Amino acid sequence: MEEDAAFKSGFVSLLGRPNVGKSTLMNRVLGAKIAITSPKPQTTRNKIVGIHTAPGHQIIFLDTPGIHKSNKPLNRMMVKEAKKAAADADLAVMIIEADNPWTEEDLLTLDLVETLEMKRVLAINKVDKVHRAAVLPLIDHSSKLSVFEEIVPLSALKGDNVDRFVEVVAGLLEEGPLLFPDDVLTDQAERFWAAEIIREKVVRRTRQEIPYSTAVMIEEFAESPGLIRIKAAILVERETQKRIVIGKAGAMIKEIGSAARHDLENFWGQKVFLELYVKHDKNWWRTQTER
Ligand code: GDP
Ligand code: MG
Repeated sequence: MEEDAAFKSGFVSLLGRPNVGKSTLMNRVLGAKIAITSPKPQTTRNKIVGIHTAPGHQIIFLDTPGIHKSNKPLNRMMVKEAKKAAADADLAVMIIEADNPWTEEDLLTLDLVETLEMKRVLAINKVDKVHRAAVLPLIDHSSKLSVFEEIVPLSALKGDNVDRFVEVVAGLLEEGPLLFPDDVLTDQAERFWAAEIIREKVVRRTRQEIPYSTAVMIEEFAESPGLIRIKAAILVERETQKRIVIGKAGAMIKEIGSAARHDLENFWGQKVFLELYVKHDKNWWRTQTER
């Protein structure tokens, strides 16, 4: 129980204007592994860009819509969308550039980050482009904003301090289960897109009654020409939650299944046969972390 209790997991949004180095940081954190990319990013509000699994933690990075400078009404809409997306995460990471810090566009992002009711981390990227002496005053200035729990200077390109960044992010996450098997980024990206899409339907349709930590396990995934067959288990923590997900005479799970199938078919441009069932086993995640 002790060691399981220490496991931390959560969704982390990456916020920052274009070019600050979000993708580079992701690739660095994930090593040589590929980041999951969706051919149709609109499918879900939040795009998973990478999952980092280590013995003590799992960090699921989300790419959220960027905020650009524009005319006012459009800007308000973008901020609203970005805020909705970022609000789904457990922790927010904002990225700025050491050599071009706190631009007008960065301040727009900061406005949003400030409103998020969660812990917030600032990554000051591209420190390789400035003198060491310039970094400290920038950290100092940034900490005076009183928005960030932690500030980490780093170079995503060179890899400097990226380990520290991961440590800080993991340290700020709450205890939680392994949400995705740890081989997720090697060869099974598609399976986990499927899981993510199904999970989104569960959370959305059942509203507040099912926690965001609900997991979906893809138990079978078979591709044949023109058809993808998926069998997935929706894992809930309580018997009452199981009843909610199934619904009256199976109405809810049917709804979840057809909504998910619709998105999955759109996603792959192929027919999908989706079989869903609900599992209640409060120990399910422990067996996962013990591997
Ligand atoms: P994104 O738009 O936020 O995803 O930014 P990218 O990751 O695509 O990076 C934008 C550009 O900045 C690319 O040319 C990267 O090589 C460069 N870049 C990213 N991180 C660093 C860094 O730490 N140092 C330097 N010198 N360049 C970086
Ligand atoms: Mg990018």
